[in-house]
Amino acid sequence: MSAEREVPAEDSIKVVCRFRPLNDSEVKAGSQFIVKFPGEEDSCVSIGGKVYMFDKVFKPNATQEKVYNEAARSIVKDVLCGYNGTIFAYGQTSSGKTHTMEGVISQPHLQGIIPRIVNDIFNHIYLMEENLEFHIKVSYFEIYMDKIRDLLDVSKVNLSVHEDKNRCPYVKGATERFVSSPEEVFEVIEEGKSNRHVAVTNMNEHSSRSHSVFLINVKQENLENQKKLSGKLYLVDLAGSEKVGKTGAEGVVLDEAKNINKSLSALGNVISALADGNKSHIPYRDSKLTRILQESLGGNARTTIVICCSPAAFNEAETKSTLEFGRRAK
Ligand code: ADP
Ligand code: MG
Repeated sequence: MSAEREVPAEDSIKVVCRFRPLNDSEVKAGSQFIVKFPGEEDSCVSIGGKVYMFDKVFKPNATQEKVYNEAARSIVKDVLCGYNGTIFAYGQTSSGKTHTMEGVISQPHLQGIIPRIVNDIFNHIYLMEENLEFHIKVSYFEIYMDKIRDLLDVSKVNLSVHEDKNRCPYVKGATERFVSSPEEVFEVIEEGKSNRHVAVTNMNEHSSRSHSVFLINVKQENLENQKKLSGKLYLVDLAGSEKVGKTGAEGVVLDEAKNINKSLSALGNVISALADGNKSHIPYRDSKLTRILQESLGGNARTTIVICCSPAAFNEAETKSTLEFGRRAK
């Protein structure tokens, strides 16, 4: 491969949908499996008689490998060609977002999208021409109540978004770690996760109320002609999209819920404006998350949205609203 940009082959926004299996508590509660997968194309799902179409629909038995190959893998070579990209998982709490993005890093068949991308990036690099020099660095932060907290340096609890000389927004002061093997990246991820655990009392609740953002930055230089390329890939595990309980939410919980709603709807508005081909006004400035992602969503960047859903009757209303979010992005 040369250090030249090629035009990406596919649409810049891809929306895929993944249903997890019924879980134990849904089975115990006798909750029915209410979704159908009509057609043979793996692109339709129907719920309550309404059919939704996506670039791909993954049934509950889809393996991590299949999801990676069909939803995420192609972004790796785009990033190595100097494109920016974003992959994010959207859905209610316990719909499978973290399983999809991260999975179980220590068990190869259960690895999610992030560790597989990391492996693939290094595999590509090992195979590339010797006259290319690569510098890979990663950052890891979370956005909670619209504040950016560095997961690799607990003293940085409110980072701000700035623009670089090309007017490209970035998180100023976020820790960057240079990495030279997948194992090093996995250590950084573990470090970030343990910092996140230490900072909060209930990790499950916390992770359902904050967005976690893992950034991989790949820079390369052709040593013969000094041509440089740089690609950034944002991998985002979003806060849970569920509506907060109709009763009793007040104080901090209500503030958190309002904040999540606001940032997820800001994201939805940006994505649907991009999908509509609206070039004049994309409302990136409405949330920190969309500001950070500005150069990595739409336009020349590659975006994949993984809509994660439960198949249980109990979650029907949330599942429909999740599917609607995905539909707006097409
Ligand atoms: P979220 O991050 O959306 O809150 P998780 O990814 O933590 O949800 O998933 C909730 C639980 O369901 C976890 O125990 C996870 O391992 C399991 N799970 C999620 N998706 C799948 C799947 N496709 N196959 C098997 N188990 C899954
Ligand atoms: Mg999660």
